[in-house]
Amino acid sequence: MVVTVREPTIPITEIEQSAFCQTDEELKSKSLLEELKVDVRWQKLPVSYMRMEPEELDRRILEARAALGTRLMILGHHYQRDEIIRFADLRGDSFKLSQFAAEQEDAEYIIFCGVHFMAETASILGGPDKKVVLPNLTAGCSMADMAHVDDVLDCWDDLSGLLGDGAITPITYMNSTAAIKAMCGRNDGIVCTSSNAEATYKWALEKGEKILFLPDQHLGRNTGVKMGIRPDEMIVWNPFKSMGGHTEDELRQAKVILWQGHCSVHTRFTVPQIEEARQRHPDVNVVVHPECTMEVVQAADSNGSTEFIKKTIEDAAPGTKWAVGTEISLVNRLAKENPDKTVFCLDSVVCPCSTMYRIHPAYLSWVLDGLNEGIVLNEIVVDPETAGYAKIALDRMLSIV
Ligand code: SF4
Repeated sequence: MVVTVREPTIPITEIEQSAFCQTDEELKSKSLLEELKVDVRWQKLPVSYMRMEPEELDRRILEARAALGTRLMILGHHYQRDEIIRFADLRGDSFKLSQFAAEQEDAEYIIFCGVHFMAETASILGGPDKKVVLPNLTAGCSMADMAHVDDVLDCWDDLSGLLGDGAITPITYMNSTAAIKAMCGRNDGIVCTSSNAEATYKWALEKGEKILFLPDQHLGRNTGVKMGIRPDEMIVWNPFKSMGGHTEDELRQAKVILWQGHCSVHTRFTVPQIEEARQRHPDVNVVVHPECTMEVVQAADSNGSTEFIKKTIEDAAPGTKWAVGTEISLVNRLAKENPDKTVFCLDSVVCPCSTMYRIHPAYLSWVLDGLNEGIVLNEIVVDPETAGYAKIALDRMLSIV
């Protein structure tokens, strides 16, 4: 049995989040120097880029992007700020963007405007000939940061030692590091997204009795409930406690072991917020992301991936009202792009995903200028062994959807 001694820490990404909880108006991009005044620890840039005003950055990005032509593809995640998403050749959630990255045959370079695990996945699926660039290397993900590979390997040793080989299948959400995806590939496991989590549970339970779900306990629990697994059959593995904080009997009886991780954006939504939205608008439809807590998902009218939420609102009848539990940059964009409907965020305090927000136009301008000078800045490279095993888990996922 392995005992973890590392102390729990609050990820910097969660501490930083409140720095950008402001009004809609103030969410507009300022110069990078201005934005860094709230004392955040982002990647340092040449000072000339930090001083550039938004209009100058827009002009430079357009020119530099045009000069690269079809050699470049810019991918933009739906949670990116407007000042970035307008330069994206393709938009999507993490799964859709990774598929786009794999399909690009002409583009030599991919600039991934998203977070680190997404760029890693694009690099793995795109293969060694594609150069994937993350404009700001400090754009991580607080959820992915909650599953350190050493802790996950300790957990896996403990569980397979107790339960025996083949009794438990690891499933990791796309929002995890390449090292965790590789651990799943190596141990007959699989990757899932928020749109195919149920299919991966079915696949796993057909070949074994139990699931270890990483790193988001809420998506794992919500998926289990959809599959008819009772909440008391799912227990949370605390990486800071011996045997995850459980007795051997508890671990033997559990059907699903959920890693103790969460999304700091989606766990801000609460049942009282839903009740308030229903009081203010009795005819409102509430749609949330399954990274929200089980109580919030059960109190909502529907739930699903970022692409599901987007499509649900786009396909809705004119005049309908939508209270949305997901990242604010996307909710604001959906409100603008669907003026015939009322679309608003469940949380009245406007908080972007603080790590997605780290992709400021100054970083995009800097990496584009680098490419035009023949320098690949901030390239994301995954070592071949990790990439090989991670791809096994990703390919398994692609084969069952
Ligand atoms: S929204 Fe949540 S899961 Fe997505 S990148 Fe931000 S912190 Fe990570």
